[in-house]
Amino acid sequence: MSVVDPEMLNKLGEVAVKVGLRLQKGQDLVMTSSIEAAPLARAIAEHAYKQGAAAVITLFSDADMSLMRFQFGHDEIFDYAPDYIVDAMAKAFDNNAARLAIAGDDPMMLANEDPDKVGRANKAQSAAYTPVRERITRFNINWNIVAYPGKKWAELVFPDKKPKSAQKKLAKAVFAASRIDVDDPISAWNEHNTNLRTRADWLNENRFSSLHFSGPGTDLTVGLADQHLWMGGEAVSKNGVWCNPNIPTEEVFTTPHAHRVNGTVRSTKPLSHNGTLIEDIEVRFEQGRIVEARASKGQDVFIKLLDTDEGARRIGEVALVPHSSPISQTGLLFYNTLFDENAASHIALGQSYWKCFTDGDTVGGDEVAARGGNSSHIHVDWMIGSNKINVDGIKENGDRVPVMRKGEWA
Ligand code: ZN
Ligand code: ZN
Repeated sequence: MSVVDPEMLNKLGEVAVKVGLRLQKGQDLVMTSSIEAAPLARAIAEHAYKQGAAAVITLFSDADMSLMRFQFGHDEIFDYAPDYIVDAMAKAFDNNAARLAIAGDDPMMLANEDPDKVGRANKAQSAAYTPVRERITRFNINWNIVAYPGKKWAELVFPDKKPKSAQKKLAKAVFAASRIDVDDPISAWNEHNTNLRTRADWLNENRFSSLHFSGPGTDLTVGLADQHLWMGGEAVSKNGVWCNPNIPTEEVFTTPHAHRVNGTVRSTKPLSHNGTLIEDIEVRFEQGRIVEARASKGQDVFIKLLDTDEGARRIGEVALVPHSSPISQTGLLFYNTLFDENAASHIALGQSYWKCFTDGDTVGGDEVAARGGNSSHIHVDWMIGSNKINVDGIKENGDRVPVMRKGEWA
């Protein structure tokens, strides 16, 4: 018997198609997957065709072959990334294809490779990927990301377990977080979406102009962008489909004001970034910009990250997640943002979401910037919430409303 239960993969495939993508009859689906995750990719393809998909196109990658480029590739190739696959994907999305990504590769895959080559390759890749990234961040089509509990990933999360039992444990955690370990996952997701919607609606009704986070090492005021919109759970893409882009998801989030963030904040969980663990981050913001930064581990990598571009020292997202969220309760560090950002309230350095505005369908780049929406080539989430953090909402007139107490909704 395979280590990862095929029955559960079938359930996850069904949820990815019916809840994550809400795939429409006649839509194409463009999927990316590792070869290791093929059993999940097949389950997704089966449910996609049952829903009436026209064509399911899957781009498979192989970790060993990806590594070969770094081990055997000539030095001059690392500033190059091919654009033709990206162009084909962009064309597919312009023709209303849906997009699905399967996460779960080894988070440390490139940890032992030459950082200069890795940096150059990431930069080239990120530039070449722009046509696809733009269509996703502008939410042109329904998209979804789900995770397959890969072997290397499991060994990192459970270093003390034997490989097979590590993968079994990770599979259990991934399936529970993805809410498919229940009798009827579809109705569990409907209920979850309703709960997230209620939180987002409450925050939107209050129209806070800023949030104040306080706790050990943290005294931070996060101004919110003008006409910001709180979102959480399902959302409607520009092609009119309501989808759940992230599985799992526990956050309600919005766009902060890039110039109205002040004070100090301390991270409450390590940040895993490109194979480096950055611990005990402490930063001070002045008028939205990080002016002081240190970390007990990985400080060089963190400073380098902050120096990526103009927008990298400002934040583009603030998100609220209760300490009692199921992912937080596992107590695990997943080394994967899809999971870790759903374990605690967080902020993200860099790019903001255009959809987090009251007129998110139509608002353009200059207008986003005028309202305080940040822009950058990076978007890196890190955790600032815990059971010791209080959050107040501050209204235009200075009134304070408790939002969270000791990490829970007030
Ligand atoms: Zn987030
Ligand atoms: Zn984020």
